[in-house]
Amino acid sequence: MDLDNLERILEGEPKYRLTQAKEAVLKNFISNWSEATFFTKELRDKLNKECPLEINAQVLVSKTGDSVKARITLADGLQTETVLMRHADPLRPEAGGRNTVCVSSQVGCPLGCLFCATGKMGLKRSLTTNEIIEQVIFFNRYLKKIIQSERPDILYKVTNVTFMGMGEPFLNYENVWEAIKIFNDYKYFNIGVRSISISTAGILEGIKKLAEEKLHVNLAISLHAPNDKLRSELMPIDKKYPLEKVLKVVDEYIAKTKRKVMFEYVLIKDVNDTDNHAKELCKIMDKKLYFVNLILYNDTGIYQASTTQRVKAFRNILEKEKIRYTQRYRFGDDISAACGQFNTKK
Ligand code: SAH
Ligand code: SF4
Repeated sequence: MDLDNLERILEGEPKYRLTQAKEAVLKNFISNWSEATFFTKELRDKLNKECPLEINAQVLVSKTGDSVKARITLADGLQTETVLMRHADPLRPEAGGRNTVCVSSQVGCPLGCLFCATGKMGLKRSLTTNEIIEQVIFFNRYLKKIIQSERPDILYKVTNVTFMGMGEPFLNYENVWEAIKIFNDYKYFNIGVRSISISTAGILEGIKKLAEEKLHVNLAISLHAPNDKLRSELMPIDKKYPLEKVLKVVDEYIAKTKRKVMFEYVLIKDVNDTDNHAKELCKIMDKKLYFVNLILYNDTGIYQASTTQRVKAFRNILEKEKIRYTQRYRFGDDISAACGQFNTKK
């Protein structure tokens, strides 16, 4: 898909033509300009030639069908990955449920966290705004075509976006923010700010910038260890941005925005999952608008996941200390679509 040409092609046309074209792509999710029947045949042909809408993707569906991964090939041949996670909404079955897309912000990632498959790739490059929104367009088209064809009475659309795919979103701040504005725009994707989340390994400049924005999207911090000694082993970026500094900037963010902040903690066997780690974690997480999100380690070939018993013991300690926490549901590990398994070199 190449939307970059759109404005240039429609330059000579009346202004509302561009609005119509954008609505067709970003709201009605057409996949070919031939569907834009409000344009002349000549213009449709020109658009198809110079501004094609096809997305070149390979799709994998998990056994349970609730998770779908798309590996998209970009114009320069590099590939990016994005995942759709579908939750039914038992209270409103007619509404199409919650459909969350986990998007990538970069191809690869320069931060090299030891437990993460993307980290192993290094950074290839950052994605453009269009390459970010293309991932959500892809799944809106998928829901419209594949899922809705079975249940034409239900309107399926992407309801949530999380920046938890490949890459560090705060190292591509401008393009990520531009994409978020388009996701939130009621004229286009119309996704509420409370349904958009950014996860960061703790880039201080990014957190500070986010605090200044008008749109208050959700912020998540990849924590994964309760002290710098262990964190810097697992996440090299901790040496540059140690815990104390990250938490200080998060507190400033909370003071300014009054928003809750999520701290992600991947439980890795014998690495960060002992009772002592849990107790240490409780000490730093005991703040009003903090909450912990426990994640089961998804296999990336290095470590092992904590045992069920260990996870339970860890949770018990958090409960005893009254630390607010949730445990992330594991999606799609049979298609390498779970957190930390994104790697397009395989
Ligand atoms: N770079 C950003 C966003 C992408 S990673 C960040 O690190 O926050 C999205 C989430 O998946 C992060 O919390 C990350 O730590 C987690 N993750 C990475 N590897 C994982 C693994 N092997 N198992 C489970 N979660 C993992
Ligand atoms: Fe990059 Fe996030 Fe993976 Fe770390 S966990 S290597 S920051 S994508």
